[in-house]
Amino acid sequence: MNPPDTLAAPVIAWFRQDLRLADNPALAAAVESGRPIIPLYILDETPGIRPMGAASLWWLDKSLRALGEDLARAGAPLILRRGAAETVLDNLIAETGAGHMVWNRLYDAGSMARDRAIKARLSARGLTVQSFNSALLNEPWMVQTEAGDFYKVFTPYWRAARDQVEDRPALPPPSRLTGCNPRSERLEDWGLHPRNPDWSVGFTAWTPGEAGAHAALKRFLGKALRGYASGRDRPGLASVSRLSPHLHFGEIGPLQIWRAVQARVAAGDSLDGAAKFLSEIGWREFNHHLLFHNPDLARRNFRPEFDAIAWRDHPEDLDAWRQGRTGYPLVDAGMRELRATGYMHNRARMVAASFLVKDLMIDWRVGEAWFWDTLVDADLAQNAANWQWVAGSGADASPYFRVFNPIRQGERFDPCGNYIRRWIPELAGLSNAVLHAPWTARPDQLSAAGVVLGQTYPRPILDHAAARDRALAAYAALGAA
Ligand code: FAD
Repeated sequence: MNPPDTLAAPVIAWFRQDLRLADNPALAAAVESGRPIIPLYILDETPGIRPMGAASLWWLDKSLRALGEDLARAGAPLILRRGAAETVLDNLIAETGAGHMVWNRLYDAGSMARDRAIKARLSARGLTVQSFNSALLNEPWMVQTEAGDFYKVFTPYWRAARDQVEDRPALPPPSRLTGCNPRSERLEDWGLHPRNPDWSVGFTAWTPGEAGAHAALKRFLGKALRGYASGRDRPGLASVSRLSPHLHFGEIGPLQIWRAVQARVAAGDSLDGAAKFLSEIGWREFNHHLLFHNPDLARRNFRPEFDAIAWRDHPEDLDAWRQGRTGYPLVDAGMRELRATGYMHNRARMVAASFLVKDLMIDWRVGEAWFWDTLVDADLAQNAANWQWVAGSGADASPYFRVFNPIRQGERFDPCGNYIRRWIPELAGLSNAVLHAPWTARPDQLSAAGVVLGQTYPRPILDHAAARDRALAAYAALGAA
C-alpha cells in the first residue's frame, strides 16, 4: 500500500534523453505540481534496451556532471541509480513515498515498452504519471499521409511536418527547485570514462551539457549558418553545427533550435542556409518517424528484397576500415576522425559507409554497430536510417547503383585537402593533384613527400572500379532497381 498522496509526497522527474533544465516540459510539470522534486537519472539495465556504446558513455558522464551541477545550483540534487528501471523506481518510491512521476517521451520500441509497463503499474498503484514531448518538433504519429499512413519519402514528409510545428512559448529554466535528498550513487563509481587506455584524449572539442549545447548553437548561428547550404558538404571547413550529440542527449531541443533559426531569419539572415539547416533537423525527425513505424529498423532491411544479399565476412578488410587503413584517403580520414574525436563529418560518413557496404560488401549492420560504439552522437533512429540509406535498403534511400567514388568525392568536397591532411598527416606533403589517390603519384613525388606506399601509408586494399562492378552485379541480381 502506498501512503495517502499529499503535496508533501515528492514528484520524481526522470531524466533520460532530455538532460537540460530549460524548455523541459517534464521538469516544468514537476515544478508546477508544487511538490518537492527528485531529479533522477537511471543507468538502465532493462532487457530490450540497447546498451549505450563506449563513446556515448563518455558523453553521458560529462553531461550528467553538468546537469547535476545545474540542478544542485537550483536547489535539487540529481539522484543517480543503476539497475533495471522498474526495480529502481519501485525502490525509490518505497524510500521516499513519491506520489507523482514525470518524464519526456522516447520513441524506440524498447523504451516505449518499458515506459508503457511502468506507467500502467504505477498508475494502478495510484501514482500520477505524466509524459511529454521534448525531443521532436512533431511526434512520430502526428504526421500522416492523406491515406493515414506513415511517410516513406522525406520531401513530402517534411513539407507536411514543417507546417505542423507548434511553436509553443519557450519554458524558462526553473530558478528555484525544492529538492529532497534520497541516497544517490556516485558518478565516478559508474566508470563511464575510459581508463587503461583512455582513448578519449582527443575528444577535446566537445563541451557536453546544456551550456555547451547553447554555445555550439550560438557559434553556428553567428558564423556558419549563412554559408551552410554549400559549406555543409565540405569536411575541411567549420561549416556545420556539431549539435548532433547535444540533440541526442536532449541538452537542447529541436524546438529551441527552430525558434533561434526563425529569429535569425526574421533579423535578415540567409534564407537558404536557414531552410537547408532546418531541413537537416527535418531528416532527424523523419528518421524518428521511420523508426517508430518500423521498430526493427536497426536490425532488418526496410526493403526485404535486400535480405538476399550475400555479404562478405572478411575480418582483415573490416579491420582496415575500422582503423582507417583502406588506402583510400577520404575513407581513412573519416574513420580516423571518428576514432580520435567520436565524430565524423556527414560527407565522410556517407563515403566511409558506402565503402564498407558497396566496395567491401560487408553487411551495413556491422558498420552500424561500429558507429554505435564509437560515435558520441550514436542514435538508434539516425544511425539505422542513415546506414540503410547508404546501403539502398532503406526508405527513400540512395539508389542501389549509387556507389560513392572515394577519389572523386575527395576531389570534389575536400579540394584543398585540408581534411585529409589533418587526419592523415603522413600524406600532408603530397600535392592536391595526387592526394586523393596517392598510388597515382610518381616515385619522385612520393619520395619528396616522404611517402612509402605499403609502409608509411597503405596501398589500396581493393580496386574501387572492380569493387563497384562487383557490387552492382550483386545488387542487380536482387532486382533492386
Ligand atoms: P549539421 O549539418 O549541423 O546538421 C544539424 C542537425 O541536423 C544535426 O545535428 C542532426 O541532428 C541533423 N542531421 C544532419 N544530417 C542528418 C542526417 N543525414 N540524418 C539525420 N539527421 C541529420 N546522426 C546522428 O545524430 N546520430 C547517428 O548515429 C548518425 N549516424 C549516421 C550514420 C551514417 C552512416 C550517416 C551517413 C549519417 C549518420 N548521422 C547520424 C547523420 C549525420 O551524419 C549527423 O547527424 C551529422 O553529421 C551531425 O553533425 P552536425 O550536428 O554538425 O550536423
